[in-house]
Amino acid sequence: MAEQLRLRLEEVTHEKEQLRAVLEGMVEGVLVVDTKGTVLLANHRLREFYGASADIAGRPLLDSIRDAELDAIVARASQTDEVITHELTVEGARPRILSVYAARFPSGGARRVGTVAVFHDVTELMRLENVRRDFVANASHELRTPLAAIRGFAETLLGNGGLAEADRRAYLEVIDRHAERLGNIVSDLLELSKIESRKSRLAPQALDAGDVARELVQDWEPRIREHGIRVAVHCEGESGVWADRQALEQVLSNLLDNALKYSEADAEVEIRVKGADGRVCIQVRDTGIGIPSEDLARIFERFYRVDKARSRALGGTGLGLSIVKHLVQRMDGTVRVESELGAGSTFSVELPASPGS
Ligand code: ADP
Repeated sequence: MAEQLRLRLEEVTHEKEQLRAVLEGMVEGVLVVDTKGTVLLANHRLREFYGASADIAGRPLLDSIRDAELDAIVARASQTDEVITHELTVEGARPRILSVYAARFPSGGARRVGTVAVFHDVTELMRLENVRRDFVANASHELRTPLAAIRGFAETLLGNGGLAEADRRAYLEVIDRHAERLGNIVSDLLELSKIESRKSRLAPQALDAGDVARELVQDWEPRIREHGIRVAVHCEGESGVWADRQALEQVLSNLLDNALKYSEADAEVEIRVKGADGRVCIQVRDTGIGIPSEDLARIFERFYRVDKARSRALGGTGLGLSIVKHLVQRMDGTVRVESELGAGSTFSVELPASPGS
């Protein structure tokens, strides 16, 4: 009998330890409170959410986690057999949005032991939802502006039969410009959605980043000359990258396009290719207008522009850098920017080196 008892005890201890390991390893927070509101269990994740100490068990809930809203949810769940769901915001160094499911147990007629609550961190989900909502609002706004201009001028043309030829021509030119703008926005949006939905397959191959940069500069020679800007390409170390040709060309085109757009005449642009330790860094450096430090973190966002009017006047859509970011990420690379207002900007794209280089 003693042996049986020992085995049973071992089994119970083992099960308890297993349960504790599962609870402590969960990505969800778990809180168990008895009928008097005393904490019976709070797993590691829950303590992390609320910055609570490890010895929270055995203390009143409101004493250890000072959140009246959570206390009210637990109290409500203890009054009903239904599962209470609620969204909570936890302030602190890293504010979070938690989705809480609370239910008393055991449910039904049995004598109640307490309430269990499970917490999911939905902060990232909410952020993405906001990004999506902002994107729809921004895209509609961006499309509405040229559309309104086109309609306005078309109506004027239709309603004024006796317009002078010069005015007619000027109005048609405005319509043409805005129609082109609409076209640019729609094609950039389609490009972005194609990259994001991963419909377009990238075909990475061994390429010489220096050659790609030099070819690009050659193709752009007339535009570069028109801007009165000098562009130089410098290579250092191995410049063999593992990248999709079209994607790499598009990334460099967008960066070079910006370097030209946001520089005054007589400025200098340098494309520097440097390979080391299995990576190749391609930098596009300009001596242009620069980017204010408070905008740096946001310029890769869709439609984000430091100076909307200047970007529009130059035919920008605010989508060029988003396309760069997404293409680079799909090629297992990274992109970052350093800039000083009035002194210039440097965009650095880092890509995997081609095998064997
Ligand atoms: P846009 O079509 O407006 O150029 P991008 O996504 O390419 O859109 O760039 C976003 C914004 O970042 C630009 O509107 C501009 O304010 C800023 N920017 C990008 N590149 C540069 C640069 N080389 N120098 C200064 N500002 C830049």
